[in-house]
Amino acid sequence: MRRWLGFGGGKPDALDGGTPPLAPQSEEPVAGRPGGHGAQQLEVLADISEFLMVHELPVNPFTLEAAYDIVTGSKPRLAAIATARLTEGLPLTLDWLEEIMREEATDGGTAQLHALIVRLEKTIDEFANTASVARTATTDYNSALEAHVGDLDTIDTSENVIEQITNLAHHMLERTREVARELTRSERETRTLQKQLADARAEAEIDHLTGLPNRRAFEARYNQVYSDTRKSGEPLCVAFCDIDEFKRVNDKHGHEAGDRVLRTVAQSLATMADDQCHVARHGGEEFVVLMRNKMIEDACTLIDEARQAIAARRLINRTTDVPFGQITLSAGVADVHAFGDAREALRAADNALLQAKDAGRNVVLKASKPD
Ligand code: GH3
Ligand code: MG
Ligand code: MG
Repeated sequence: MRRWLGFGGGKPDALDGGTPPLAPQSEEPVAGRPGGHGAQQLEVLADISEFLMVHELPVNPFTLEAAYDIVTGSKPRLAAIATARLTEGLPLTLDWLEEIMREEATDGGTAQLHALIVRLEKTIDEFANTASVARTATTDYNSALEAHVGDLDTIDTSENVIEQITNLAHHMLERTREVARELTRSERETRTLQKQLADARAEAEIDHLTGLPNRRAFEARYNQVYSDTRKSGEPLCVAFCDIDEFKRVNDKHGHEAGDRVLRTVAQSLATMADDQCHVARHGGEEFVVLMRNKMIEDACTLIDEARQAIAARRLINRTTDVPFGQITLSAGVADVHAFGDAREALRAADNALLQAKDAGRNVVLKASKPD
């Protein structure tokens, strides 16, 4: 456990001295503190609290989950990344944990998708094998039947040939039924896997906090829409929207309340979404909006209306009844085809967002065209 604390060995002064407060004092069973399994639980709890204290992390469901994953090693990749960071002498801050846990969640989804793809490939292989076996069997039977039919032409009545053909027909029927059963089973399995694959694909493209499409989904959509609209000559605009001074919301109200604010802003932005407008969470407190068939001025107006709608709300922290104060966002909007390529347009929208922040926030700015 010491290695998680960032000082590889001894305890810090503040936590030093005597038995940890939560640890059982003796081997005697203590009321409400069972030995054995219970002692292990207490040890994990003590490790988690120590981890949070040493790294000066707030106590909330997010940090508790991260601390649990790291100190128990239940997510080995996460534990390894944390160790590497501590070895470099860098702190395990809340921002860092958020980023790493987000990546971890995405990687988990990818691994699941990969496993499904492997299973699907295997079933398709089996399916192809069954089909090929069926074809070979049919060819064999056809040749045998042809030979016997040839015999029938030359010999008038041969009980032997008739008996052989009957046997062959029985065999063929049996084998065909067997192949049909295998084909049905493979087909059913393929359908199930196809459905699971589609579900996993959809799952991997959703941001779980807000329910919006995630960055991966946005990138895929952006590339597709970019090439479609480039061909058709249809206008396309992209906006980067970022919540203003969101760190303060977290600092004042805690991460969990911050999550609720993020969800509320996401829901508000999602009201714009339709078949021409794609709204996604790009990461953190940043959202992207892809607007098809809109000229830049109209796109700016649409985003500005969303900004006003959010700024007009007065959100209250329901667990403390303390108002969140005005929540605002800033945005940068680019006319995508005015730029050299899709990436350049995205960068231009991001630059316009930075200018909006510099201009005092709570404002939507149009990206300037390249020289
Ligand atoms: P600015 O107006 O310049 O954008 O200031 P800011 O505080 O919004 O920007 P900064 O980039 O300094 O901080 C963003 C904060 O957003 C830090 C991070 O803790 C918080 N954040 C990012 N993702 C989440 C999340 O999923 N939940 C919560 N509660 N906070 C998040
Ligand atoms: Mg921000
Ligand atoms: Mg930001």
